[in-house]
Amino acid sequence: METAFERADSITPCPIGADGLCCKNCSMGPCRLVGKTDRGVCGATIATVAARNFARAVTVGAASHSDHGRDMAYTLLEAAEGHAPDYGVRDPYKLMEVADFLDVPTKDEEGERRPINDIARDVALAALGEFGKVRGEFYYRKRAPAKRQEIWESLGITPRNIDREIVDLLHRTHIGNDQDAEHILDQTLRCALGDGWGGSMLGTDISDILFGTPAPVRSQANLGVLSEDKVNIIIHGHEPTLSEMIVAAAMDPEMIEYAKSKGAKGIQMSGICCTANETVMRQGVPLAGNFLQQELAILT
Ligand code: SF4
Repeated sequence: METAFERADSITPCPIGADGLCCKNCSMGPCRLVGKTDRGVCGATIATVAARNFARAVTVGAASHSDHGRDMAYTLLEAAEGHAPDYGVRDPYKLMEVADFLDVPTKDEEGERRPINDIARDVALAALGEFGKVRGEFYYRKRAPAKRQEIWESLGITPRNIDREIVDLLHRTHIGNDQDAEHILDQTLRCALGDGWGGSMLGTDISDILFGTPAPVRSQANLGVLSEDKVNIIIHGHEPTLSEMIVAAAMDPEMIEYAKSKGAKGIQMSGICCTANETVMRQGVPLAGNFLQQELAILT
């Protein structure tokens, strides 16, 4: 079986790509800015092309991590409205904290605590609103220290909403749009802040609401956690919505009996990559390794 390490040995990294000097953002290219060529067909400079390439890498990362946050908000909404009975609010204190950040009232007009699922539903809807807020700036900027928010304001890079900054940055990197490398990088910062303090932060906070806020636990790590005489199940990916349910199913006595009926001594859960981090810090599920070790786990 071939592994990532063997493929890395057989591939020579492209030096033009490594410096971000190849642009294929329109069909007049691809333009390779090497040797005496310092501008693309459209006139884009080396700095502009390198900035565009970096910006596109940031938009992809921001989109994938923020969309994870959006999925967590939809899971909370489904749970609060009673459509996902296996999920629910496990950390009500965290729910109240997040409600405060999102300007969601936690008490009714008489000063009584609102029903927990009503608050959870409004938190989920407010979180989803952060992705496409029509006016102003996103609420979750309040998650950052006041001084940090002032710096963003002074630089004009406070995110308006999560999706808008991703789309705006992609728009700028297309041919005939923003040609100024520094200007492209300013928007790259704004996009990254929308993800880091918005989409990704919401993903983390809502995971805590749904699955519990992590506390120190003892566990084990590396490929030695795989068991010779149990059924090994490795959870892998970057969304905890499914992995938390697999952990619950693997602890079901009926499932353990089924594994035993086939000659195994039980079920050994472990994790790889991001979702492994989610389950090790909340459930103590052992960590088999990182992304690069996935093929090694199958080989083992
Ligand atoms: S956008 Fe400009 S530099 Fe990029 S491929 Fe088109 S012509 Fe070449």
